[in-house]
Amino acid sequence: MNFEYASKSKELQAKLRAFIQEHIVPVEAEYIAFQQNPENLWKRWEGMEKLKKKAKQAGLWNLFLPKDYGDLSPGLTNLEYAPLAEIMGEKIWISEVFNCSAPDTGNMEVLAKYGSEPQKEKWLKPLMNGEIRSAFLMTEPEVASSDATNIETSIVLEGDAYVINGRKWWSSGGMDSHCKFAIVMGKTDFNAPRHQQQSMVIVPMDTEGLRIIRPLSVLGYYDSPEGHAEIQMTNVRVPKENLILGEGRGFEIAQGRLGPGRIHHCMRAVGLAARCYELMIQRSLERETFGKKLFQHGGCQEMIADSKADLESARLLTLSCASAIDSIGPHKARDLIAMIKYAVPNLAIRVIDRAVQVHGGAGVCSDFILARALASMRTLRIADGPDAVHKRTVARIEVNKSYRHSKL
Ligand SMILES: Cc1cc2nc3c(=O)[nH]c(=O)nc-3n(C[C@H](O)[C@H](O)[C@H](O)COP(=O)(O)OP(=O)(O)OC[C@H]3O[C@@H](n4cnc5c(N)ncnc54)[C@H](O)[C@@H]3O)c2cc1C
Repeated sequence: MNFEYASKSKELQAKLRAFIQEHIVPVEAEYIAFQQNPENLWKRWEGMEKLKKKAKQAGLWNLFLPKDYGDLSPGLTNLEYAPLAEIMGEKIWISEVFNCSAPDTGNMEVLAKYGSEPQKEKWLKPLMNGEIRSAFLMTEPEVASSDATNIETSIVLEGDAYVINGRKWWSSGGMDSHCKFAIVMGKTDFNAPRHQQQSMVIVPMDTEGLRIIRPLSVLGYYDSPEGHAEIQMTNVRVPKENLILGEGRGFEIAQGRLGPGRIHHCMRAVGLAARCYELMIQRSLERETFGKKLFQHGGCQEMIADSKADLESARLLTLSCASAIDSIGPHKARDLIAMIKYAVPNLAIRVIDRAVQVHGGAGVCSDFILARALASMRTLRIADGPDAVHKRTVARIEVNKSYRHSKL
């Protein structure tokens, strides 16, 4: 397969790199100092809104939304977007500048695809304008949520309102003061067939009965200002018009939502691993032990060579999946989506771990991006479904194929 990027994508890549160089690199140290100051926990860095405005003016906005969404979309395919997401992924914090960060991207796709016109007007529009942020509440502390049929939050119709009761956690973005609504998955009918019990409903974060219990840390990082919240919902009432698509359609929406979200994570993961790889090479050129530069030691050369192969494998798998989604759609490409979701974070972890090793003690402190990158990639083996669940999908599809062939 040939992955020479289309000229439109190449132009945007150049434009994005130029934007980052001109507007983001000069303020990066300020942003990092702000983030690392414990007094700023859950506060938003004021420069973010200025950067967003500039990115929007430059036309580097909502690039993630594929061209099937018509007027809402800037018109890129997934394959054209992939290298752009990779560039954004090189710095953990900058996707928001371009309105391309999770969980908003997944929520925008849900509302664009399944939302009613009033839902689009009220929630999708400000989200696409970057005026607000959002959260997605599926995972629950009390049940093994990698099997989403286990969730227990109830959504009950009472008159003109749905009443929601349940506890969620790992609600990414839930700590952010800009997070104005959540898409909540729960059950409207506990007796329906397994995959028709679930529904999704829009819940404004300031609804009475919705309470943030605590922020969760990820291997010691709070990921402020978005954070990951544990949230209790007790008799939370929302108008029945807030139901998305229809009762019993939640599972269907979840499948539609997580496919594109997963490939975006992988695209950014390749970018982050590529940046750590560059740092590894840089360090190996600078430091010297036993009379040689690090890169002159065979052990270090092996780490560089293995990392290059891992990086290219991760990139090509991701591009091949993006191309498949464009040509056959996310449902038919679900085996490739599942495959990259476990393959890419693991490849990225290997690259980043080697970069940490080459940096020695510096690799695990916060002077470099490496420790945070390692934490974030380790997390990605769990977020949006753990490795085991995606391997199950791939294995089942593969076995099914062989079984069918053996019967021919
Ligand atoms: C940083 C972060 C951000 C997240 N953001 C969100 C969010 O925004 N919204 C949201 O709803 N959720 C979010 N999640 C939650 C995430 O999607 C879940 O943690 C994940 O789906 C696993 O569910 P669980 O934690 O209940 O693990 P469990 O379901 O309890 O699974 C635990 C382990 O069991 C094993 N296992 C499960 N099934 C199988 C199998 N078939 N075969 C073999 N082993 C198996 C796996 O090793 C798995 O890791 C986030 C998680 C993290 C860490």
